[in-house]
Amino acid sequence: MQAVVYRGVNDLRVESVPVPRISASELLVRVAVCGVCPTDIKKIHHGTVPPPRIFGHETAGTIVKLGARVRGFRIGDRVALHHHIPCLKCHACRHRAFAQCPQYKRTGITAGFEPAGGGYAEYVRVMDFCLPGVVKIPSKNSFLEGAMLEPVNTVLKGVNRLTVLPGDFVLVAGQGPIGLLFTQLLALRGLKVIATDLLDTRLKLARRFGAARALRADLPDLPDQIARLTRSRGLDAAVIAVPADAAMQQALSLVRGAGQVLLFAHTKRGAVAPLDLSLICTDEKDLIGSYSADVTLQPTVTRLVFSRQLDVRPLITHRFPLAETAAAVALAAKPQPDSLKVVVEQAV
Ligand SMILES: [Zn+2]
Ligand SMILES: [Zn+2]
Repeated sequence: MQAVVYRGVNDLRVESVPVPRISASELLVRVAVCGVCPTDIKKIHHGTVPPPRIFGHETAGTIVKLGARVRGFRIGDRVALHHHIPCLKCHACRHRAFAQCPQYKRTGITAGFEPAGGGYAEYVRVMDFCLPGVVKIPSKNSFLEGAMLEPVNTVLKGVNRLTVLPGDFVLVAGQGPIGLLFTQLLALRGLKVIATDLLDTRLKLARRFGAARALRADLPDLPDQIARLTRSRGLDAAVIAVPADAAMQQALSLVRGAGQVLLFAHTKRGAVAPLDLSLICTDEKDLIGSYSADVTLQPTVTRLVFSRQLDVRPLITHRFPLAETAAAVALAAKPQPDSLKVVVEQAV
């Protein structure tokens, strides 16, 4: 089969590799769509993991082979996959810190080499411990929608970390695909979202997705505007969906006492930012983070996406064939005014 193999920093090659073999408790899925995710881009650009690997973890496709011991699925089922699944039994899982579970840190979907998701290949093998994360896609929904379940799950997990009440003001800094999902989910919960970005095209979409206000992030009087909107009370919470320290610093000053700032894009290790710690201690502001998905949210995520109450379709702006995965990654890494979610799509 064809696969896009990561061979080193910025080196993605289309190669011919064997179709993965499966055991009696595993599935083989023919990939239809795989989203390009910033976490993969980071690994490809910075070489944070050793090659060779086949990346791609926002995967949807069709089951083409079933192990003899697998129950509950049939050949031909259209499914969305999750490559990380917690054990639900360990110390971390008992604390609902699923992303810290040792099993969760294993990648259970592969197209060959060290498991890394495998979605940039024609077929992937789904290991037994990832079967609880396999979701059937209803016939009225597309593979594209299926491939969005994983990113939506990560955003819902982040939203659930916020202790906000309907009518509260929440800033969402950055209106890329993830920021726009935050805007949409928070608006659905009855929160007043103030969306910021540097691209007018994205601000327009933020309004369409329910933002109460969509403002340019570089407005000099942004703090004054937010003070006016919140009647000088300050923001109740802020979500930082851009890897910008300045956005985090500004948000910490704009949230009210005991407000929260959620980091969602600061995944680069070793970054140090100066912080007035009295904001945390005296003003009781929380600086928190959220990373990756929570499988216990899957029924809610599935209902939201497949009912289109949360409509993910306008987010997908660019589709590339498998052979052009490198171009897809390049576009997702350097977004254009008209680009949001970029996916790799294969004819099925
Ligand atoms: Zn992802
Ligand atoms: Zn666990």
